Amino acid sequence: MDQGKYSLTTKVVIGMVTGILVGFLLRALFPENPFVTTYITEGVLLILGKIFITCLKMLVVPLIFISLVCGTCTLQDASTLGRLGLKTVGLYILTTCIAISMAIALALIFEPGVGANLASTTGFTPQEAPPLSQVLINLFPSNPIDAMAKGNALQIIVFALLFGISIAASGKKGQPVADMFISLNEVIMKLVTLLMNLAPYGVFALMAHLFTTIEFDAIFNLLQYFFLLLGVLILHVFITYFTLLRFVGGLSPLRFLRKMEDTLLFAFSTSSSSATIPVSLETVKRRLGASNRVASFTIPLGATINMDGTAMMQGVATVFIAQAFSIDLTLMDYLTVIVTATLASIGTAGVPGVGLIMLAMVLQQVGLPLEGIAIIMGVDRLLDMVRTAVNVTGDCTVTCIVAKSEGEFDRSVFDDEHAGEQEEIINFHHITDEPDT
Ligand code: ASP
Repeated sequence: MDQGKYSLTTKVVIGMVTGILVGFLLRALFPENPFVTTYITEGVLLILGKIFITCLKMLVVPLIFISLVCGTCTLQDASTLGRLGLKTVGLYILTTCIAISMAIALALIFEPGVGANLASTTGFTPQEAPPLSQVLINLFPSNPIDAMAKGNALQIIVFALLFGISIAASGKKGQPVADMFISLNEVIMKLVTLLMNLAPYGVFALMAHLFTTIEFDAIFNLLQYFFLLLGVLILHVFITYFTLLRFVGGLSPLRFLRKMEDTLLFAFSTSSSSATIPVSLETVKRRLGASNRVASFTIPLGATINMDGTAMMQGVATVFIAQAFSIDLTLMDYLTVIVTATLASIGTAGVPGVGLIMLAMVLQQVGLPLEGIAIIMGVDRLLDMVRTAVNVTGDCTVTCIVAKSEGEFDRSVFDDEHAGEQEEIINFHHITDEPDT
């Protein structure tokens, strides 16, 4: 294959657009054709798409652990870590609060649910959201191997931080372990690059399968909700993130967005912040210029607790459901929604559709009928793609701001339009061919 002809991003876009077209064609030309359904839609396309997502997920646990240990074991002192943690979590919570307040305000202005009269109940039973106390207790792993086996990102983060600090505190004796993690980090990033080269095919299969099976009817009934949410999601990127980048980080928002293209495409096609971690990490380090020390901490943490897009969906959905069921909410109720949706988005796992389950927690707090979830469920799949892209944009924005404030940001990488692009090419040369550096 001619690596130089098209950039990886162009290939992924081609994969995505062809996938969507093939999906539409299959459903138009072969509706309910058993051969097409069995062997193509639920056969080749499903298998290829699932393998692609599984491979991305396969990288997440080793990537979080290795890169975070690698980042913390080179820290000079524990107070740096504390400062980094405070800044990061503070910014994540602040952006989420802004996101949800904006979503509620715009939903109150545009009134998407007024006159929708969708109060006919359905047989939907929502899954129960976990209680908040449990979310806190669950931060700490009783068994780190079990946390890794279950892919519990927050627990892995806590263990990796403690492990990395201990390596740093062990001085000379810990150095070989630190060196090993630094090498492991290089190896795992190569694996990410390798997988990204296969992304155009994976994205094609995911999109073709999705657009063969997705239901569009619901969108027409919920046009106002759909477009309002889409609008506020986009507005949040342009207002909140762009302001932060420009005025706090002193960085060009448009260049930032251009360099985010791969990450956005991955988030959009996988609907999973968690599965996008490998690509987000690669982007912030190699294309945007954040150091591994900061990025290895902020990206996995953000993919787990920072979900601005999800919080916005919960805000608009709450107002929409209240209006559709003609229930008046007080100012106190809205404040409760802001706090609960922020907490709910922290507790939302970065996988497809979980935001909708956590919406139950928000609705319950203000006494809205949970059946409302069933109403918006029909349009949630497409919106999930967009809000996941917003979620990861938030993670990368905060990473750049924090890295910049910590002096851990390489401006020359950010300014170089093509920085990190050559990494897309993998050379399978033998290890002994590599010159000693
Ligand atoms: N799919 C979202 C994410 O992974 C979570 C959600 O809102 O359902 O970021």
